Amino acid sequence: MNVCVIGTGYVGLVTGVCFSSLGHNVVCVDHDLDKINSLRCGVVPIYEPGLKELMNKSTKANNLIFTTDLEEGMNEATIILIAVGTPANKDGSANLTYIKRVALEIGQYVRPGMTIVTKSTVPVGTNKKIKQWVSFSSGHQQFSIASCPEFLREGNAIKDTLEMERAVFGVEDVQAELALRALHKPINPTIIVTTIETAETAKYAANAFLATKISFINEVANVCESVGADVEALARVMGLDHRIGTSFLKAGVGYGGSCFPKDTQAFIRIAAEANYHLQIVPAVERVNHEQRYRLLAKLKKSCPILAGKRIAILGLAFKPHTDDMRAAPALDIIQALLSEQSSTIAYDPVASDQAKRLLPDVVLASSWQEAVKEADAVLILTDWAEFKSIDLEELKVLMRDSVVIDGRNLFHPEEMKQQGFYYDSVGRAQVD
Ligand code: NAD
Repeated sequence: MNVCVIGTGYVGLVTGVCFSSLGHNVVCVDHDLDKINSLRCGVVPIYEPGLKELMNKSTKANNLIFTTDLEEGMNEATIILIAVGTPANKDGSANLTYIKRVALEIGQYVRPGMTIVTKSTVPVGTNKKIKQWVSFSSGHQQFSIASCPEFLREGNAIKDTLEMERAVFGVEDVQAELALRALHKPINPTIIVTTIETAETAKYAANAFLATKISFINEVANVCESVGADVEALARVMGLDHRIGTSFLKAGVGYGGSCFPKDTQAFIRIAAEANYHLQIVPAVERVNHEQRYRLLAKLKKSCPILAGKRIAILGLAFKPHTDDMRAAPALDIIQALLSEQSSTIAYDPVASDQAKRLLPDVVLASSWQEAVKEADAVLILTDWAEFKSIDLEELKVLMRDSVVIDGRNLFHPEEMKQQGFYYDSVGRAQVD
């Protein structure tokens, strides 16, 4: 199939690369010339394991090209995938500026028989608006629209795409369904064909549910701390019940990233606009927000005055295997530390470039050893494997004081105590 993907961010680039690796001819379009130039040189502007190698294979095989020219991108295509960003507005609703602009641009080149698919996460009713915007600019309606929301996880995006468990096709007609079936044929996922409204809502419901699981286990962790229970063992007990499942039951410092925070907010707005007052999702958000500050409270138990203290942050990305720092817990936590005049130095294995932009006042270290050197306290915010394998003796020697506040439960409280650390984590009793 000849495919045009618009937007070469985390979703668009992975989608374009994966579908081209399966034999489709893909043109990836982005209006960011720097991005397109670096992609043309084989440089991937984001960190996603395996992406560069797969991309270079496809470009060499001549079934993946990059352009800023939408006309060129749509020239041969029968299916157009929209993967531009839908960030949150100040009021929590989804910002559709990029979507609208793309729809109006697509209208200039759309031909009869084309299918326009939205991969971006968009509120219910948006695909119908896309139809209007494209028709307004093209002057005809001889094309189909579909909603095929994306479920990939950053850090695991290639596997999630090439071994997709399920795909939802929200379609208005058979043409759109057939186009999406042909596109996904080499992957062969379980396919659910449904209405556009169901597909649009399913994406928000799925993300809200995953966020709920995280906030739920974090609340349980907070209870564990008060009653002397261990959330790690408890989560195993819960998770081995197949009705619950083991995933997303990891207590910690809360969720972040480009999806859960904005999608839960947007879901609340979508429901409110439909005159339904969601009750669970706002509580999920509140718990998530408070969880970040609980970690700071733990730090203050051992370091009541942070001014002048050297605090090392290990982990900036919202989760391991990505450089994405959008809405990462580290952002709020570091802001709070800076506002108390502590001197903060941070290290992340891959997110330094993002951090330079988002945290210009923070000193960035190039290794964990450099970050923790002479530190009064260490805060662990991302569960990178590199941190889990830290040599505790080396850590102890490098630090000035030996306070470790572990927002990801990477270490065992007993072992930390034996090594002479003041150690606190999430949902586990401190060892006296
Ligand atoms: P992103 O910000 O990384 O990428 C968006 C890209 O679109 C950018 O490269 C931008 O330059 C480009 N763009 C914007 N307007 C354009 C235009 N008019 N023409 C051409 N290019 C344009 O965003 P992302 O993280 O890939 O997310 C895209 C969508 O997918 C969002 O709706 C998001 O909610 C959803 N989503 C993201 C993930 C994820 O893990 N990141 C997972 C599932 C769904």
